Amino acid sequence: MPNNANDPNRKSWIEVPKNSDFPIQNIPFGVFITKEDVITIGTRIGDCAIDMGALQQLGYFNGIDLTDDMFMQDTLNDFISDGKKTWRLVRNRLAEIFDENNSSLRDNKKQRDVVIFKMDDIEMQLPVQIGDYTDFYSSKEHATNVGKMFRDPENALLPNWLHIPVGYHGRSSTIVPSGKNIRRPNGQTMPADATGPVFGPSKLVDFELEMAFITTDANVLGEPVPIDEAEDYIFGMVLFNDWSARDIQKWEYVPLGPFLAKNFASTISPWIVTMDALEPFKTESCEQSPAPMKYLQQKDKHTFDINLEVSLQPENSSETVISKSNFKYMYWTMAQQLAHHTVNGCRVNSGDMMGSGTISGPTPDSFGSMLELSWGGKNPIKLNDGSERKFINDNDTVIMRGYCQNKEVRIGFGECVGKILPAFEIK
Ligand code: MN
Repeated sequence: MPNNANDPNRKSWIEVPKNSDFPIQNIPFGVFITKEDVITIGTRIGDCAIDMGALQQLGYFNGIDLTDDMFMQDTLNDFISDGKKTWRLVRNRLAEIFDENNSSLRDNKKQRDVVIFKMDDIEMQLPVQIGDYTDFYSSKEHATNVGKMFRDPENALLPNWLHIPVGYHGRSSTIVPSGKNIRRPNGQTMPADATGPVFGPSKLVDFELEMAFITTDANVLGEPVPIDEAEDYIFGMVLFNDWSARDIQKWEYVPLGPFLAKNFASTISPWIVTMDALEPFKTESCEQSPAPMKYLQQKDKHTFDINLEVSLQPENSSETVISKSNFKYMYWTMAQQLAHHTVNGCRVNSGDMMGSGTISGPTPDSFGSMLELSWGGKNPIKLNDGSERKFINDNDTVIMRGYCQNKEVRIGFGECVGKILPAFEIK
C-alpha cells in the first residue's frame, strides 16, 4: 500500500510555521485532554492539535475498518494493535483531510471548531498504556565511556557487548509525558570516603539522552520475531530521557544491574512519530565487527538519521545546549533489539516501550549524559549564565529535541522536558 502521507509536495490548509517539527508529512499520534476535560486520540499539524475522535464521529474515517470508538479512547494501544496496514490507511486519510486542496473540513467552520485545538489549549497525556518497558544499552561509545569510569579503562567494553544487544527490564509505572516535574530520588549510596553506605537525596542526578520505540503485538509466547520481520512490529518512536541517579546506581548495580537508580522516572516526548514518517531518513548503521550471530544479521539500511540535542536550563535563566548527538550512532538497530528480545520466546505486546540506551556520539560534545559530558564530575560544564554543572541541580530543567531533515521536509519529535525538584523529605 502506498505511503501517500509522505508526499513532500503536499501542503496543508493549516498554517505550519517555518522549521516546525510537524508539517503535514509528519502526522504523529498522541493523546490529549481539552479544557473541557475530554480525552481523545489526536494528531498534530503545525501548532494545532487535531481531535481524531471528533473526526471519526463526523465520518472522516469512513471506509477504513476501525471499531466505532477507536479514537475516543485514552490510549493508542487498540489502534496500535490493528497493525501496520491500518496505521498507514489512517495516516494517508489524515493527509487527505488536511490537504490544502480538500475543502470538506477546511470550509466547514462548525466542524473545524470541534476538531482543531491550539496546542496552548490542550495538555498532552501518555500516548500508550505501557505494559512493559525494556532499556537497552546499545551505544558503543556510551558503554565504553561508562565502562572506563565505573570499571576498568583497559577493558571498558565487557566481553558480551559486541555479541548481544544488552538490556534490562525497567518499570513502566514511572514513565511520564514531557512537562511533568521529577523529584530527586532518595536512596543508598557509598561515598568514596565513607566506611559504610549512607542514606539521603542522590547527589548525582543525571539525564540519559535516548529514543524509545513502541511495539504492536509481535508474537505469541514461545515464538521469536525473525529479524527480517521485526520492523513491521514497530509503530513509532519518541524522545526518551531515562533519568538516572549515578551514586545510587554505582552502589546498587552489582550483581543484577540497575534498580532504584533508574526507576524513579523516565520522560518521553508525547507525540509518537511513526516509522512510516521516518522512512525517508533511513541510513546505514554502524559497521558491526565481529559479525553478529545469524538471528541478528541484517542487510541494507536499518537505522535513522535523527539529530538529537540536549539543553539544560537553570531556574530563571536561559538554556544552554550541552550535547548534540544522532540516533544513527547506535551500534545495534531496533530490529536487532527486538529480534534479540524475543529470540527466547519472550512475548512483546502492543504499547510496550523499548529504550535505545544512552546515545553518545564519537566526540565529547556528543555524549548523551552528564556523567560522560563532565567525565564523572572531573570537567564541569559551563552554562551560558556563568554557572557550572557536574550533574543536575534542583530546579534545573532538561530539554531534549530531535528532528530529521532532508532537502524537502523536516520531521521532528517536539520536546521532551523535565524539571528536577528537591527530594521528598524523609524524617
Ligand atoms: Mn537508560
